[in-house]
Amino acid sequence: MRRITVLGATGSIGQNTIDLIRRDPDAYKVVALTGGRNIEKLAHDAKALHAEVAVTCHPELLGDLRAALSGSDVEAAAGDEAICAAAARPADWCMSAIVGAAGLAPGLEALKQGQTLALANKESLVTAGPLLLQTAKAHGATVLPVDSEHSGVFQALIGEDITAVERIIITASGGAFRDWPIEKLANATLAQASSHPNWDMGQRITIDSASMFNKAMELIETKEFFGVRPEQIEALIHPESLIHALVGFHDGALMAHVGPPDMRHAIGFALHWPARKPLPVTRLDLAKIGQFSFRAPDEHRWPALRIAREVMEAGGLSGAVFNAAKERALDGFIHGEIGFNDMSVVVDRVLAKMSAKNGLQNAEITLDNVAMTDREARVVADEMMQRLG
Ligand code: NAD
Ligand code: MG
Repeated sequence: MRRITVLGATGSIGQNTIDLIRRDPDAYKVVALTGGRNIEKLAHDAKALHAEVAVTCHPELLGDLRAALSGSDVEAAAGDEAICAAAARPADWCMSAIVGAAGLAPGLEALKQGQTLALANKESLVTAGPLLLQTAKAHGATVLPVDSEHSGVFQALIGEDITAVERIIITASGGAFRDWPIEKLANATLAQASSHPNWDMGQRITIDSASMFNKAMELIETKEFFGVRPEQIEALIHPESLIHALVGFHDGALMAHVGPPDMRHAIGFALHWPARKPLPVTRLDLAKIGQFSFRAPDEHRWPALRIAREVMEAGGLSGAVFNAAKERALDGFIHGEIGFNDMSVVVDRVLAKMSAKNGLQNAEITLDNVAMTDREARVVADEMMQRLG
């Protein structure tokens, strides 16, 4: 029986992971489930899956969690340290599906135990890619990408030599505002930005899809995970979201990963890797689909793509600044403090200010440095937002 932990179990990726685990309960022993404010869901799943421990990141909700778990054998715990401790419990496989920079530390804990880390938390690679991969190497652990594009690239690379790769193309649906007149974007509302044409995801990543900050993160993830140069990585608008990624080789061949927009494919691939097992995803009827379409991304509409290039070129701690500034700007947009287009203005300004002052490029990437940089970037982002607001 494989011992499994799900970090961020109550979210969109976490629930899709649990859906797959539930279909074959005898194959898995659930070690830990973690969540946030949705205590009812966390407790329900922890009891149903007979988890050893359930953890909420909010210490003030420990009493509620204990009450919700009463009468069961599931332990209750709360707080960031308890999440790290849960990730460090002996397990074979750990899903990293916390949203945001908070996902980094628990993922590192799982790697230090030699676990296989299924990585949905893209912020870990964006803020601290080298640290994550070095930690995995030092402890004989494996990191498997769960973001659909990176899972697609990973699958297209099976049996291939990375040195034969010329380019990697990740696709983007274009999000909610793909076809909007650019002048209208400044007045886009939260509700408009929170609906995705193809994928059903958490609210934050859905808004990041509309602003293309999600794709910006994924460009950086690609550089970090696959170790290719920034100029080898491209984003391509593909409104159907059926081709997730393409890998181009020196001989001109392109290997594409094609599948329905259902995260259970990438999650299930990582769950069963290196085997392939049947998954409950729709089989594509290509004749019915008829055609795939593509467009070049417009960096005027989506400044996030240009910013991603600058961050990839700079390297070092600029990914941590980028991510923290983006998270704060997103909070600002969600809370109505800034407009949709202001998000990229804030990220640009925070990067400019902090790169000039701190020399981000040459800084060593340690958990402490990333945390310190993250905190500072959030303060600078708040200043920039006040000036805009
Ligand atoms: P979500 O918002 O639906 O769920 C996030 C989970 O993290 C919840 O369990 C929540 O309780 C927990 N959480 C939130 N803040 C936390 C904190 N500070 N400390 C500990 N736990 C916290 O998010 P999601 O859409 O499932 O995305 C999870 C991660 O996977 C993100 O990094 C996202 O970018 C990435 N991802 C998601 C999708 C998708 O289809 N949803 C696809 C690719 C990658
Ligand atoms: Mg993705």
